[in-house]
Amino acid sequence: MIYNTIKKLATYALEKGLITEEERAYSINLLLDVLNLDEYDEPSEEYVNVDLESTLKEILDYAASNNLLENDSVVYRDLFDTKVMNCFTPRPQSVIDKFYSLYEDSPKEATDWYYAFAKNTDYVRDYRIKKDLKWTSPTIYGDLDITINLSKPEKDPKAIAAAKLMKQSSYPKCMLCVENEGYRGRVNHPARETIRIIPLDLEGDKFYFQYSPYSYYNEHCIVFNEKHIPMVINEPALKHLFAFVSKFPHYMLGSNADLPIVGGSILTHDHYQGGAYVFPMFRADKVCELEFKGYEDVKASFLKWPLSVIRLESIDKEKLIALSMKILNCWREYTDEESFIYAYTDDTPHNTITPIVHKRGDTFIIDLTLRNNITTEEYPLGVYHPHQEYWNIKKENIGLIEVMGLAVLPSRLKGEIEKMTTLIKEGKDIASDPDTLKHKEWLDNFIDKYDISTEKNIEDMLKAEIGKTFMKVLECAGVYKQDEKGKEGLLRFVNKVNSL
Ligand SMILES: [Zn+2]
Repeated sequence: MIYNTIKKLATYALEKGLITEEERAYSINLLLDVLNLDEYDEPSEEYVNVDLESTLKEILDYAASNNLLENDSVVYRDLFDTKVMNCFTPRPQSVIDKFYSLYEDSPKEATDWYYAFAKNTDYVRDYRIKKDLKWTSPTIYGDLDITINLSKPEKDPKAIAAAKLMKQSSYPKCMLCVENEGYRGRVNHPARETIRIIPLDLEGDKFYFQYSPYSYYNEHCIVFNEKHIPMVINEPALKHLFAFVSKFPHYMLGSNADLPIVGGSILTHDHYQGGAYVFPMFRADKVCELEFKGYEDVKASFLKWPLSVIRLESIDKEKLIALSMKILNCWREYTDEESFIYAYTDDTPHNTITPIVHKRGDTFIIDLTLRNNITTEEYPLGVYHPHQEYWNIKKENIGLIEVMGLAVLPSRLKGEIEKMTTLIKEGKDIASDPDTLKHKEWLDNFIDKYDISTEKNIEDMLKAEIGKTFMKVLECAGVYKQDEKGKEGLLRFVNKVNSL
């Protein structure tokens, strides 16, 4: 039986172009080593269009029943099947050569191939991503995109216990370090044997390009510094964004802010995130046009968007970088008590920017999202951070992806929606279940306004209200609210920029 599975997997690798016929015996022998087998007897059955998920499951079941897994749980299965797929994954240099030979003809062909490759090697687990829940929610700002991501496996108790007992390791220093390529992983660090990274020159600085294994949106990529150095939003960072979008005009690229609370989850390693996706923010209307002295030919506007965004457009990227730096430098030092914006408390800085660059035709567009991470007694996690009444849906930082209007909600919500739907349909109190208790107050705010006669209606109601709550959470993160007072505050800041 295991020989049939081995043959299936070798057939899959050939079908997807991961190996050539000349590499077939070699790859099978690597796999025999992983499976601790001394020989292989080729079965006579022929296979076509091999399904990866079910084939890997056969191998993993074999591994589990032959004591090749430390524990039979998703964490150990993921470590093991990555080792299996590495037997069929080309070496880094040949991937780099292929990418750049395609790039010479067309950047899009290069990324199309590279993304398909990342899925074919199972580094991006496409069959998991396809199970993600996705919907759009209409709001006054246009449709927002909501996803519940299921591709990040939740750790099982055994894996959590094993991770606690492990000695602290600083290799690789973080999830983004170049040393991840080929790393076998451990219970507290994912296997990265099948990742292949592409070197990039951005304005003379060495970066690497890879896809996110969780693919929060189409072709979700990460561009990271060759060095493990902290994130910082400064002129080189803006230059990197423009350099990347110049090289890959069909991709956007943005950076998380460089301060805690308003930043992303990894501030210790300089990196950006991009991809081929039209985010809701890109379609946003404007509240008004803006004018910046000395940059009259740069189209500038204040976006109609829950967060506070200044959009600059021009075909001249040098001008956009210069004006963006002027705005950033002014914002860092800017205090406006009337708008509750404080540049510092004691020596701690609060103001920063989440910048995002994309291209439309020949025009470069940079969105500068004004951020502030001040905390108060009333809002200990941040004034411009999701407020407590929304924590049942979203408590974490509003990072780059969410700034652009795509919610990446925790996988627990999927089960909670299902439980709530059942309880409501049966006329029961959702507070009766410990998993859905936290949604009780939230639900009471709107349930009377809906027809809840069918299961579908109930589910639609919950999804619509999750979308509305996401919008409110984004509004929390806006330093200038979308009203007259907010607009006046923003214009005061623009005047300050123009006075410099
Ligand atoms: Zn690192």
